[in-house]
Amino acid sequence: MKIFLDGAWVDSAEAKISVFDHGLLYGDGVFEGIRLYGGNVFRLDQHLERLEYSAKAILLELPWSRKEISDAVCETCRLNNLTDAYIRLVVTRGVGDLGLSPWLCKKPSIFIIADKIALYPAKYYSEGLEIVTVPTRRVNPAALSPAIKSLNYLNNILAKIEARQFGALEAIMLNDQGFVAECTGDNIFIVHKGRIITPAAQQGALKGITRDAVFDIARRLGIAVEEHDLTRYDVWNADEVFLTGTGAEVIPVVKLDGRQIGSGKPGAVFGRVLEAFRKAVLTDGTRL
Ligand code: PMP
Repeated sequence: MKIFLDGAWVDSAEAKISVFDHGLLYGDGVFEGIRLYGGNVFRLDQHLERLEYSAKAILLELPWSRKEISDAVCETCRLNNLTDAYIRLVVTRGVGDLGLSPWLCKKPSIFIIADKIALYPAKYYSEGLEIVTVPTRRVNPAALSPAIKSLNYLNNILAKIEARQFGALEAIMLNDQGFVAECTGDNIFIVHKGRIITPAAQQGALKGITRDAVFDIARRLGIAVEEHDLTRYDVWNADEVFLTGTGAEVIPVVKLDGRQIGSGKPGAVFGRVLEAFRKAVLTDGTRL
């Protein structure tokens, strides 16, 4: 497997970064998870725009243009003969000393890995996921904006561990006011009386690329989409619930904390969105 690392493609065994890289020492860096479907890098431009926003938010100047990164992403897929893959694009603050100071890190590092991804087992797409609400709250945006896709994922990892301890694969994270923010690695949507509703990013959700795609798909299908504050009460009373994410794609949820949602089966609105999503991923983006 060829990995793109700081301007060149190297074998995975040679793809190494320094132990003094602040991406490793402090989680100081940003990243994107991207999908390649049938030779189409799904919404690559949107991913690169989010990467730029994340980098700007942590005052990390990207020394590469969007075109250069885009070309490197595509070339990494081509070199590995991939037509369907999960792509991990990482930018670290670079090598510094043992202190926090990012200004001592003179050169950011970039690497791109293109590989397969283990999705949720297929049966959950037809039967639906059972998720839980975990005690770990989403980090307060005043402390660290959840819109920044940074290398510091401990908040989500702690929630993911709790989900597993409760026997679930995914979990709702509430924000510090008790509103539904998102899941540990996915955005959440409810369907109520024919309308699709998701928490606003300000409630502590990442502005998911799949979330945006679902907005566009729903509008095309003539289904109203809204961003609203949601509590668990709204989830309990939803007709349908589904999650979105680059890895998860669009996946239905049929139980929360042991409570059945709607009919207990993946709903009709979810089905229409998923069908349109499966088509969109093949054309909406950048061809290799
Ligand atoms: N929320 C979090 C915390 C995430 O890490 C992700 C990405 N896996 C998402 C939502 C979904 O975003 P996207 O659709 O861009 O993958």
